[in-house]
Amino acid sequence: MEDLRLLVELQGIDARLYELRKDKERLPKLISYAGETLQQIKAEMDAARAELEQVNKEKRAADAELQTENEHLNKLKLRTTEIKTNKEYFAHLKEIEECQKKIAKIEETELELMEKVEKAEAAASGKKGLADEEEKKFNERKTEIEGRFVAGDREMEELSGKRLEIFPKITETHAQYYSTILAKYPESAVVEAANTSCTGCRMMIPPQMFNNVRKGESIIKCNNCRRILYYREPVAEPSK
Ligand SMILES: [Zn+2]
Repeated sequence: MEDLRLLVELQGIDARLYELRKDKERLPKLISYAGETLQQIKAEMDAARAELEQVNKEKRAADAELQTENEHLNKLKLRTTEIKTNKEYFAHLKEIEECQKKIAKIEETELELMEKVEKAEAAASGKKGLADEEEKKFNERKTEIEGRFVAGDREMEELSGKRLEIFPKITETHAQYYSTILAKYPESAVVEAANTSCTGCRMMIPPQMFNNVRKGESIIKCNNCRRILYYREPVAEPSK
């Protein structure tokens, strides 16, 4: 029966396609695994940049504070001419002194912050360098990984083409049944009946039915798993 022969061939193609597709499913994982180091370095780079931004912010705040205090000091100094009593004069001097102390302290903090900014800049640019380097490595690895699937892609394309040729040649009801059972058993919708049992589910096939499978004149389904059965003449046993 031609349909049966075609279904056996089709199953061979579909099983291989299934295998290739499953293999291809690993691709995103392999790429993501290859990119783990890069992701980690990028996270470190982001952290370094956030740190840099933080110290820059502190530095700007110190700059603003310093400016405010300097303006304050200038105003105080301008007021010196308005002072009339000794008491006022000493209070005024004290105020100036305190303002100067504050300025000195801010300037000290500024020095520390400038050092921090410098360090944070170096750290951020160091991480950027590492990330660029790792990105290059990752892209190379990605290309290499994708390359491993090129042959499989080509084979899938070929098999899909063959499939398109075979499928319309099968009687529609049989083709439909095959598609239904293939959805359940992607690798074994059509199985061999051997030693009077179904090789799909290992269930015994009644003798009369087995004979019919052997004749190969009609589409016979396993009573248990409903797979399509076919019989292949045993190849001559090698001498023992
Ligand atoms: Zn079965």
